[in-house]
Amino acid sequence: MTINHKIEHILQHKAKFIFITGGVVSSLGKGLASASLASILQSRGFKVRLRKLDPYLNVDPGTMSPYQHGEVFVTDDGTEADLDLGHYERFSGVPAKRADSVTTGIIYQRVIDKERHGDYLGATIQVVPHVTNEIKDFILSDITDEDFVLCEIGGTVGDIEGQPYLEAIRQLAYELGRERVMFIHVTLLPFIPAAGELKTKPTQHSVKQLQEYGIQPDMILCRSQIEIPQNEKRKIAQFCNVKEENVIAALDVKSIYQVPIAYSHEGMDAAVCKYFGITNAPAPELSKWEHIVNVLQNPEGTVNIGVVGKYTQLLEAYKSLNEALVHGGIANKYKVKIKWIDAEKLESEDAEQELADVSGILVPGGFGQRGTEGKIKAIKYAREHKVPFLGICFGMQMAVIETMRDVAGVADAGTTEFMPDCEPVVGLMTEWDKDGAKQIRHKDGDLGGTMRLGAYECDLQPGSLVAKVYGINKISERHRHRYEVNIKYEPQLQQSGMVISGRSPDGKLPEIVEIPTHPWFIGVQFHPELKSKPFAPHPLFVAFVKAAIENSRLI
Ligand code: GLN
Repeated sequence: MTINHKIEHILQHKAKFIFITGGVVSSLGKGLASASLASILQSRGFKVRLRKLDPYLNVDPGTMSPYQHGEVFVTDDGTEADLDLGHYERFSGVPAKRADSVTTGIIYQRVIDKERHGDYLGATIQVVPHVTNEIKDFILSDITDEDFVLCEIGGTVGDIEGQPYLEAIRQLAYELGRERVMFIHVTLLPFIPAAGELKTKPTQHSVKQLQEYGIQPDMILCRSQIEIPQNEKRKIAQFCNVKEENVIAALDVKSIYQVPIAYSHEGMDAAVCKYFGITNAPAPELSKWEHIVNVLQNPEGTVNIGVVGKYTQLLEAYKSLNEALVHGGIANKYKVKIKWIDAEKLESEDAEQELADVSGILVPGGFGQRGTEGKIKAIKYAREHKVPFLGICFGMQMAVIETMRDVAGVADAGTTEFMPDCEPVVGLMTEWDKDGAKQIRHKDGDLGGTMRLGAYECDLQPGSLVAKVYGINKISERHRHRYEVNIKYEPQLQQSGMVISGRSPDGKLPEIVEIPTHPWFIGVQFHPELKSKPFAPHPLFVAFVKAAIENSRLI
């Protein structure tokens, strides 16, 4: 379908588009703002969809260091995406898809593929219209009965990389009609203590810059540490050509789950409805958010959980994990206090001392050798001291290696990921089944997009702890890993007290291990944190936090 056909096609649907840009500084929380707006529109009965357009040249963040990019979020359909897609899912409950995440890398790859294929019929390929058309094509794809499609443009207005995106959305506003498109610009009002004032000038400049690209924002969302006086809002409205009621304050709040309520109180959803001429929208129904905030503000107690990882200096690397633990706390009406423990440091530290004050231990996913022995040390401590333990992906692989080494007596048990001469308890699988088709990967193949990615089914062993936790015997969870525990070690593991209680439907891949003689010891090959939501906490996190609370009462 050509882009013009696509536009005509979309015009027959009811979807309205909201484009979210950012200015002044980066890290303003545009993702959270987009997710929160989506959730309040949902609370008025609208169907929403959230999308992220990332201007960097990587095809996806899968090959980027967590220090560069934070966590890589994985969708059911196996897309490795920006962590903002995690916010989108956590706030809206709508599972994100491949069609909801794009980067300049993907856009250029598509354009160049078409050029090589001769699809442009001899034309000179240019940013406008070829790259911009590809961006528009992405924005308009895979839309059915959504009321609102919210598209967040990554980066900050003025970035060279972002320009084709701004041009594409500018064009779309005219092609779809201004009444179908709204531009929201997120900015910062810095507070100058010496003057005791909030400053609006950076916002004015940022809006001017947006106007240079032909985009007039319809709403300005102003991040601010303190209440914004009405006369400052008026000033912004006047200088930026925006209605005063569409200058919305986004004040700092204690918990991200307060944001939807805060925005709604500021009138954001009402202003959006008014902009689109929607007069009959139901009032927002925010009780589920009120409940969450209420529990977060009035917990019955606090439980300490130790997370032994390698990226503990940058908590963005464990975004979903952190949130899933909070959700597990909400379900138990407890505050979860996370003690971030550097796995590498733990190697030379006294584990007894470092871990004495935590009631549960979690070893998250990871790649590479650094910190491995620290993780194994923490797992040994959890197993021997009967401290509730949850191992995720790499954490599960390390738990299996720990039992093989320490209980089964195989001193060189290891993973072929970085131990070439070990007993390969964890090794590279080169073939596996997905939905009846064979997936193949090669040892020296590309690193990007070649892992076992996305949702896979798993059969749980009836009567096992994990079957009790889930309350069902068949689950589907999201994966992101290259290596697997080799099922041939099952007899040795079993003799050592570790049971494989979840496996792939063909029986070949161990997906979950547990130790039945331990109060709560579970390792999972997948990433349960990716599916947890504040209003639908993941059962594994609910049960893990509960076990940790029970353990804390014993101490
Ligand atoms: N590095 C391990 C693998 O590739 C684990 C990955 C992870 O924890 N996500 O299998």
